[in-house]
Amino acid sequence: MQFETIIGLEVHAQLKTRTKIFCGCSTQFGGPPNTHTCPVCLGMPGVLPVLNRQVVEYTLRMALATHCTIARESRFARKNYFYPDLPKGYQISQYELPIAEHGHLDIAVESDSKNESDPDAEPTKRIGITRIHMEEDAGKLIHDDRRPVSRVDLNRTGVPLMEIVSEPDMRSPAEAGAYLRKLRSIIRYLGIGDGNMEEGSFRCDANVSIRPVGSDRFGTRTEIKNLNSFKNVEKAIRYEVARQREILLDGASVIQETRLWDPAAGRTNAMRGKEEAHDYRYFPDPDLVPLVIDEAWIAAARQALPELPDDKRARFIDQHGLPAYDAGVLTASRDLADYYEETVKRCQLPKPASNWIMGSLLGLLNAEGLTIAASPISPHNLADLLTLIDRGTISGKIAKTVFEEMAVSGNSPQEIVAAKGLEQVSDTDAIAAIVDQVWADHPDEVARLKAGNQKLMGFFVGQVMRSTKGKANPKIVNQLLAQKLAQ
Ligand code: ADP
Ligand code: MG
Ligand code: ZN
Repeated sequence: MQFETIIGLEVHAQLKTRTKIFCGCSTQFGGPPNTHTCPVCLGMPGVLPVLNRQVVEYTLRMALATHCTIARESRFARKNYFYPDLPKGYQISQYELPIAEHGHLDIAVESDSKNESDPDAEPTKRIGITRIHMEEDAGKLIHDDRRPVSRVDLNRTGVPLMEIVSEPDMRSPAEAGAYLRKLRSIIRYLGIGDGNMEEGSFRCDANVSIRPVGSDRFGTRTEIKNLNSFKNVEKAIRYEVARQREILLDGASVIQETRLWDPAAGRTNAMRGKEEAHDYRYFPDPDLVPLVIDEAWIAAARQALPELPDDKRARFIDQHGLPAYDAGVLTASRDLADYYEETVKRCQLPKPASNWIMGSLLGLLNAEGLTIAASPISPHNLADLLTLIDRGTISGKIAKTVFEEMAVSGNSPQEIVAAKGLEQVSDTDAIAAIVDQVWADHPDEVARLKAGNQKLMGFFVGQVMRSTKGKANPKIVNQLLAQKLAQ
């Protein structure tokens, strides 16, 4: 039997505010345990939470960027449960009336069916966003490996989180990955969070079910927690789909439950039965008044939005004449897009700039584990390198050598070319003399070339290049060799 995979994701993104959501404590990561705490976030009796305006501002930006409807009035609720890292015995979250609902974002998907009217357009798919709400993070338990002791660090209690819940619209692990990457890219463009999965500032729970192809009813889902990298999200979903498939093929039923991904074993394990909303006894927090957002605030937040990834990508295609693929890669992060545009501004060579950045530069950064912001080659210097190639001062091949040298020394390409004497030789007479020499040195090859073995043309080009240390203008070399052959 053929099955279809259904995926819905719940993402918790930490918001990059200076202070916590309901008190003035620092959100700084890594302080000594329990030093960023006060009676409010420690949950002492009788204290009163005060909502951090910046948390609302940031969530509002995210909601607008993902085309949500903003609630003019929303509420905070108490989600009651016991856990040692939650001193109050409840988490303040939004439940019945979240700040934002009914949004969406578009992801690029693989597809064989090309858009007829625009064959260059990459196929996209719209993923619904059910809701976005604000809540506080809990503390952290630190277990001792050697002794039966656990400690609790409450520095993280009250750190602001934004929860983004998707519709069950994804149909493959790859689509889930694309959705998460897009979400993270928007968060980073907005400057409201780090979006770092490995460090826990961007966490994801995956809800997964399968159903027979053609069925219009969803199957029973499981929820997978503990997904701390993009790779693990995709792996865990793949594992879970295979597990559920086996259960259904056996004639048994999938149990709705929460499962934990074990990255080392490469499997999910049952963690607990699925909790229901009523288990939490949600009720409106009597300490917090309803949150009212007026038109003026929404308008101001909308005004303050930066150019977002989709718009930037469309503009790159339009303004720089780039293929959709290039535009997608270059706008994946704001820093990379800025780097590209600074380069093009100086050299006016949009496509070569794209090729060099996507190829050599990203390759270099990847190998060195550097971000674009820490690139050893400045946009200014890269632009000048492209100009040198464009003017024929150096060949594309020599340019690779210059690029490597730039990466090490940080020197300008002009300095490197001058210091190493790498300028391309375009002096036709000088090259003609070398062509004559090579021709005279290889009578056998000449005979075979004349007999019609065109492959030997490459051999002769190579010989000329070798004796000029790669500096001969390849165009002229080819012209001269063709003339020689025609003689
Ligand atoms: P809860 O808050 O109890 O986890 P929700 O109804 O809010 O439950 O759903 C959580 C997530 O589960 C959403 O992202 C939703 O898209 C997804 N989801 C719901 N039903 C299914 C299903 N049958 N298969 C896969 N995902 C689902
Ligand atoms: Mg859930
Ligand atoms: Zn505090």
